Amino acid sequence: MLIDHLRQEFRKVPMTEHLSVDEQIVPFKGVSSLKQYNPKKPSKWGYKIFVLADDKGYVYDFRPYTVQSRRLPDLSFQSDKQLASKGRGSYDEWMTTSDSGVTTYAVKWYDNKAVCLSSTFATSQPQQTCVRYDRKRKEEVEVPRPNIVKLYNEHMGGVDLQDQLLTYYRMSFRSRKYYLRLVFHLFDMAVVNSWLLYRRSAVSLKIPEKKQYALCDFKLKLAFSLTASGKDLRKKRGRPSTDAVKVNFEKKKKCGRATKPIPEDDIRKDGIGHFPAFSANRATCKLPGCKSKVRMYCLKCNVYLCCDQKKNCFLDFHQ
Ligand SMILES: [Zn+2]
Ligand SMILES: [Zn+2]
Repeated sequence: MLIDHLRQEFRKVPMTEHLSVDEQIVPFKGVSSLKQYNPKKPSKWGYKIFVLADDKGYVYDFRPYTVQSRRLPDLSFQSDKQLASKGRGSYDEWMTTSDSGVTTYAVKWYDNKAVCLSSTFATSQPQQTCVRYDRKRKEEVEVPRPNIVKLYNEHMGGVDLQDQLLTYYRMSFRSRKYYLRLVFHLFDMAVVNSWLLYRRSAVSLKIPEKKQYALCDFKLKLAFSLTASGKDLRKKRGRPSTDAVKVNFEKKKKCGRATKPIPEDDIRKDGIGHFPAFSANRATCKLPGCKSKVRMYCLKCNVYLCCDQKKNCFLDFHQ
């Protein structure tokens, strides 16, 4: 259910041009028949899912790996040895058309070791060369390189990028149940995806990168919104209503970025638990454009707002 729901939501996002499919390993050290080993991935042990991502790392689709996963039909590449005997940079290429009529090109290229890549649009041609260091000759040499490898290096590392983002602030959750690990992995994936979408819209709104939220800040904001929106925080027993807000800002400082203490719209405008209180100190009203010094603040948002005969910033701020 969760898998279906996430796939459905991820696919709603318009796709960009450069997409790639790669394996992703969900870290898991326990015992499961689905466990796989992949020495090329940051987490070597775990179970495998196939991921379709763009060059920024956004995941559009994913499938858990099963033993019946379909492979490209009738591909018999030359062996590593055969290619090695032909020299560095040699390759073997196949073309195949699936039942659904999609033509796929597959190239096995031998550099230091063999790599296999497949694509629905890129082939080995036009072939280029790349510069490599030859240890025996102790000099740089030119090695033939199929076009598909060049394109992969330029645009296709999306799944690796998503992997990298996932490792930064992974939810720490220990369980022997592999499906729970998978669930938490998917939550992390959904958060990283949301952040990438946020970045995408920030770019289209021409918000400078310095002003965009880093992944860490974004996660904290999200966590706070999810815990506070739709709730009257005063009702929490034994805990002053503004605690959650304070904790949030303390954590933010650790992320190395000072942010204005105005809560997200989904908290600010949820219409629940926004009550006025008065402080001994005066501070500037937080409604944009208002410079009045006031004692009144919102218990939930923890920001100063004014309300007098002339204006009602308290009301304006919350709607
Ligand atoms: Zn409020
Ligand atoms: Zn005001």
